[in-house]
Amino acid sequence: MDKLLSPKDIVRSGLCIGCGSCVARSHSPGAQMQFDPYGQLKPAPARRWYQLRSEEFTNTCPFSPAAKNEDQLASQLFAAVQHETTVGYLQAAYVGHVEEDTYRAQGSSGGMVTWVATELLRKGLIDGVAHVVASENPQANGRFFHYRIARTEAEIREGAKSRYYPVELSEIIRTIQAIPGRYAVVGIPCFIKAVQLLRMEDWVLKERIVFTLGLFCGHMKSARFVESFAWQMKVPFRQIQQVDFRYKDAGRPANWYNAMLQLNNGETVNKDWWHLADGDWGAGFFMNNACNFCDDVVAETADISFGDAWVEPYASDGKGTNVVVVRSPVIHQVLLDGIAGARLQLKEVDASFVAQTQAAGLRQRREGLAYRLTWNHRGVKPLKRVAPDSTTPAKQRKWIYTMRYYISAWSHRIFRLARSIQQPRLYIAWSRLAGAVYHGLAYHKGKIGEMSKRFSQLKTR
Ligand SMILES: Cc1cc2nc3c(=O)[nH]c(=O)nc-3n(C[C@H](O)[C@H](O)[C@H](O)COP(=O)(O)OP(=O)(O)OC[C@H]3O[C@@H](n4cnc5c(N)ncnc54)[C@H](O)[C@@H]3O)c2cc1C
Repeated sequence: MDKLLSPKDIVRSGLCIGCGSCVARSHSPGAQMQFDPYGQLKPAPARRWYQLRSEEFTNTCPFSPAAKNEDQLASQLFAAVQHETTVGYLQAAYVGHVEEDTYRAQGSSGGMVTWVATELLRKGLIDGVAHVVASENPQANGRFFHYRIARTEAEIREGAKSRYYPVELSEIIRTIQAIPGRYAVVGIPCFIKAVQLLRMEDWVLKERIVFTLGLFCGHMKSARFVESFAWQMKVPFRQIQQVDFRYKDAGRPANWYNAMLQLNNGETVNKDWWHLADGDWGAGFFMNNACNFCDDVVAETADISFGDAWVEPYASDGKGTNVVVVRSPVIHQVLLDGIAGARLQLKEVDASFVAQTQAAGLRQRREGLAYRLTWNHRGVKPLKRVAPDSTTPAKQRKWIYTMRYYISAWSHRIFRLARSIQQPRLYIAWSRLAGAVYHGLAYHKGKIGEMSKRFSQLKTR
């Protein structure tokens, strides 16, 4: 290995996603994950191990350029199945939802993640599921959501719903190491990659983590997103008890996200993301910088991955619809049994259908990533499956990728400033302006959109 790395090297290079796998394996009793000033989880810098360069860290950090990439990992895990550059290896792919009970109504999309996790437990294939649940006393412990291990059907079902909020794996990895059993882990692509890298280093984890359930991912937000909800819904942040990032209303299109906050006096407030200054997912507000250097949208190293079917007619169906990519024959059989028993309503689709549902994410992580890789990068240089390329993207696309990058970077800083001087208006005004410029460029909306349209017409004359 050319160059050994430490957690500090990765954090300083803006490549730390905050998964906590380094803390889990640190062998240092005081090592822990904590929020940085921007509301992102990072390894606490106070300990010696943080700057210690080691082969183990270099091999297991999911953003380390020396770690195995998604193709290398997946080819070892799923060697017998077909490979597509967009969605990785696959046995089969499906679109649909859970028919059984209230899984669909309780899930963010079609309820498939919770159903598969529950079914693995019911069939006796696992003893527990590491997933993400709401924290009981978020204001006291400083986190709205955290990973925990569910061991009953009821506990698994408590975890339903997507949490666009920082979480980390260190505690559950340590629990899995300590308590024998067969576990499934639910996670976004880089977290599942981290788990697979850890499994390669540690035979206990290899033996005990028997299934991985991946979530498709556009990007990870910082904890400040929730504070921004509070500012814009005009409620005191300290009174928020629970957050639902995607309050479900079956009567409205699934892609009209609505955020709901439950306050400690029992009241609720909610707002459509579209009416929030920073609610356009595509603009990249509060995105973790490491997401700029990720090339896996669909959790290519997971035994099964789940996303939203962002194409019509499914996107308009407020009840929610999943796309699913299956790589494990055992889980595939679980799905086939569910379809045969009319507990699942799934239709087989091909890889290009799945890619179509994630067109924007794939553009950002392939063409956009290739373009970002041509920029100067401070510190550890990311090594991706995509080669640097600044010639293929059209000029307008380059503007969009650049704008998104700077909106992400500055949203963290401006929010921090507005928070420290207690002037929400500063952040809200800035984010409205940044959003308007982004909309002009990306969708030709508003005055800026008109100007950029006229400018491109002038150029083609
Ligand atoms: C940060 C993030 C970004 C996403 N981006 C996209 C995207 O760009 N395109 C797309 O199609 N889908 C994306 N998804 C996935 C999508 O939101 C749904 O989670 C997915 O479709 C499964 O829905 P479901 O109804 O089957 O799951 P549910 O039945 O609602 O179950 C969700 C499961 O995921 C677990 N979970 C929730 N949040 C997290 C988290 N942060 N980390 C780990 N586990 C978690 C829950 O504990 C639960 O087990 C994203 C999810 C997250 C968390």
